[in-house]
Amino acid sequence: MVEQTLSIIKPDAIERNLESKIKTFFEQKNFKIAKSKKVQITKEEAAEFYIIHQTKPFYEDLCNYLSSGPIVVMVLEGEGAVSKNRQIMGATDPLKAEPGTLRKMYGISIDKNSVHGSDSLENAKKEINFFFSK
Ligand code: UDP
Ligand code: MG
Repeated sequence: MVEQTLSIIKPDAIERNLESKIKTFFEQKNFKIAKSKKVQITKEEAAEFYIIHQTKPFYEDLCNYLSSGPIVVMVLEGEGAVSKNRQIMGATDPLKAEPGTLRKMYGISIDKNSVHGSDSLENAKKEINFFFSK
């Protein structure tokens, strides 16, 4: 099934000028980048986006981090896009990510792991709506 998922190139990767490398990587994996925009969100917006993690010890740092600089938000489209994107991103902790995955190649640490990807079709719809409804 052709799906859409939300991808974010996080501040650590934008800061290191990795936007075009990461976009090329997605295209080489046969994703269509249906929408893309560079934005900087507020801490409050980050808190809303990551509300699912509100009870986690890393929540506060995570919200500060995602709002700390520009990010690129994209709608990726393709066959099985949600799980396929999770696969090519790699594990949350770059140290545990498989070779050839984005987080293995570019992630600095578990918190500065370069990319976000929706974890289910339902969350993908919510997250796309969060960034692209206006
Ligand atoms: N995170 C963190 N410390 C942790 C776990 C997660 O800083 O111990 C951050 C990390 O940036 C991660 C985000 O919180 O990407 C969301 O966590 P989640 O478990 O949903 O990982 P993901 O779905 O991004 O792989
Ligand atoms: Mg997640």
